[in-house]
Amino acid sequence: MLILGGTAEANRLAQVVAKDPRIYAVLSYAGRTENPAKPPIAWRVGGFGGIDGLKHYLMAENIARVVDATHPFAAQMSSHAIAACAAANVPLLALERPPWQAVAGDRWIEVDDIGAAAAALGAAPRRVFLGIGRQHLAAFAPHPQHAYLVRLVDPPRAPLPLRDAEMVVARGPFDRAGERAMLTKFCADMIVAKNAGGNQVSAKIDVARELALPVIMIRRPFVPARQKVETVDEVLHWLGHDAAPAERGV
Ligand code: NAP
Repeated sequence: MLILGGTAEANRLAQVVAKDPRIYAVLSYAGRTENPAKPPIAWRVGGFGGIDGLKHYLMAENIARVVDATHPFAAQMSSHAIAACAAANVPLLALERPPWQAVAGDRWIEVDDIGAAAAALGAAPRRVFLGIGRQHLAAFAPHPQHAYLVRLVDPPRAPLPLRDAEMVVARGPFDRAGERAMLTKFCADMIVAKNAGGNQVSAKIDVARELALPVIMIRRPFVPARQKVETVDEVLHWLGHDAAPAERGV
């Protein structure tokens, strides 16, 4: 089995299959973070080389099943997996956490992409927390009237493309107390977030509600239809390898 990873879900799945001698699985990282958690199963790092590259990998490595446990915003990888698995005739299952839903007290402004999120900050200067990763910060460069607090997993190798930016280097999960302290210290008055779902990085959304801060919430990108589940247990069921919870130990 090939697990397309880069998420807490992929790591959890790797922990479970590591204990099951019936499953030989390889976890694949894109290579975006410098020190990814070392998984308890075989692993590889780096792109496959597009759809053809992934198809070739599946065939060369004799992969019988693919579980796409990438982040919901990794739409290109997910689309490539659909096409490559179809071409190589390998069953594919997506393991994807449900998106967050706004609840009473949330002040969300939902937008479709990063560019729309940057535009939604408006003309007046704001103090903005960007919890969106490193890759798309440049979209905020045309809006230099705002002061930004940027959180990154690794220290950046190049200067941030933002005129007025502070930086925090930290790896989730994050808790409410820490998020509240960070946002209050910076005097944030707006948050930009991807609708990642799950509980690893959801504390900032809870704290935004507590502090009545508006959240510019970026909707998930489009991924073509595929078979999808939300839990590791459902993946095991799909594999035909159900096990008792005590046996799994997670
Ligand atoms: P993406 O835009 O969908 O993918 C870009 C390219 O990166 C893919 O075409 C593929 O290259 C390679 N790639 C992506 N995920 C891979 C994986 N697990 N194993 C091997 N190659 C992979 O992806 P992204 O949004 O940059 O995300 C990259 C990784 O970071 C993913 O593993 C994702 O789970 C993780 N991540 C992303 C986010 C986010 O907000 N996007 C947040 C947290 C974690 P080739 O075409 O050469 O195969």
